[in-house]
Amino acid sequence: MISISPTSLKSFNTFGIDVQAEQLLNITAVQQLQEAQQNGLLNSPNLLVLGGGSNWLFTKDVSGLVIRMANKGIVERKEEEQIIVTAQAGERWNDVVQYCVNKGYAGVENLSLIPGTIGAAPIQNIGAYGIELKDVFHSLQAIAIATGELRIFSKEECEFGYRESVFKGSLKGQYIITEVSLVLNTTAQLHTHYGAIEEELKKRNIEKPTIKDISEVVSHIRVSKLPDPSTIGNAGSFFKNPVVDAVIAQELKQRFPDIVSYPAGQGRDKLAAGWLIEQCGWKGKIVGNTGTWKNQALVLVNHGGATGKEVFELSTAIIDSVKERFGVSLEREVNLF
Ligand code: FAD
Ligand code: NAP
Repeated sequence: MISISPTSLKSFNTFGIDVQAEQLLNITAVQQLQEAQQNGLLNSPNLLVLGGGSNWLFTKDVSGLVIRMANKGIVERKEEEQIIVTAQAGERWNDVVQYCVNKGYAGVENLSLIPGTIGAAPIQNIGAYGIELKDVFHSLQAIAIATGELRIFSKEECEFGYRESVFKGSLKGQYIITEVSLVLNTTAQLHTHYGAIEEELKKRNIEKPTIKDISEVVSHIRVSKLPDPSTIGNAGSFFKNPVVDAVIAQELKQRFPDIVSYPAGQGRDKLAAGWLIEQCGWKGKIVGNTGTWKNQALVLVNHGGATGKEVFELSTAIIDSVKERFGVSLEREVNLF
């Protein structure tokens, strides 16, 4: 059944920003979306699609319809040596990860504990610890907002890039993802050479890690480094790591020998945005009700009662200071409304 009512979005976004949605429609089955489309509800001028709200910064009330994806269900099938796991869009991403880890299906363990739903995972091609969604992506099903038609997207059609996909580009605002399928293996090819994974494995005296070990280690590192949104509002990394021409990265390296950068392919380098922000003196800084996290300057936080506008203004000040010091333009990763 479709239920529509004005609602505060405070508990539906991990920044904990208190804005109102004129209408909120909780979707627990794909048929409800089709019904909403037939009734013209999806024509709302400010239609906003919400999963777990872990990548949104709300700066104003939503005068229109918010669709909240809460459809659940996980199924699997075997295709030769591979396992295809299909989850409804409203399943929590980490629940799907734990489903795979517990069954011994390798591929998503490095992506443990990323907040949000699986339906949102393709939007920015979520990534962590050297793995991106695209590495385990099989296909997805989505409904066209304009026609109500269900369409299957292959990996190629999703046009995945670094924290990018076709759904942030040419098809922005045109589809609602209803389910996502992942392709996993039972023979593990583990990725441990990224971030602090190896260091933590060593601390635990683990020489031959299992899928479960990696998942636990990644979860542990994340809990120790990142603020828990249930106590301190945040949306993870607020900015993307800038990818610049390798020549520019080299020039920066000469001026700032400690700069953190990694090859990004095609003559480009990725700079660690957290380092750039930290060097501008922002790490752990408190500005009114907002600030940056003490253990990772890339994460902007709501220390309590912050408005979206305050957080946005802080992000602008950070962008300006990084531009002035390094000549590098930071781009917001978080979705703004
Ligand atoms: P939302 O925030 O609700 O929405 C995000 C975007 O997806 C919006 O544009 C929304 O309209 C769209 N959307 C949501 N669901 C659908 C759907 N079914 N169909 C169509 N569009 C949809 N991200 C990473 O990549 N790597 C990380 O390691 C990571 N760590 C994080 C750590 C913390 C503590 C936090 C708070 C966030 C982190 N994030 C990370 C960001 C965030 O978790 C991801 O972007 C996640 O995929 C967002 O999922 P969500 O369901 O909360 O989406
Ligand atoms: P970190 O390990 O301190 O590393 C800092 C940055 O350097 C990361 O952004 C990462 O880029 C990059 N990096 C580290 N090792 C690398 C390697 N071997 N090769 C290439 N790039 C490397 O980062 P962190 O803040 O603790 O985060 C750990 C992981 O979780 C990262 O992958 C990060 O993206 C992910 N994460 C993402 C969010 C989000 O909201 N998007 C929030 C928290 C954590 P990449 O970011 O490109 O991986």
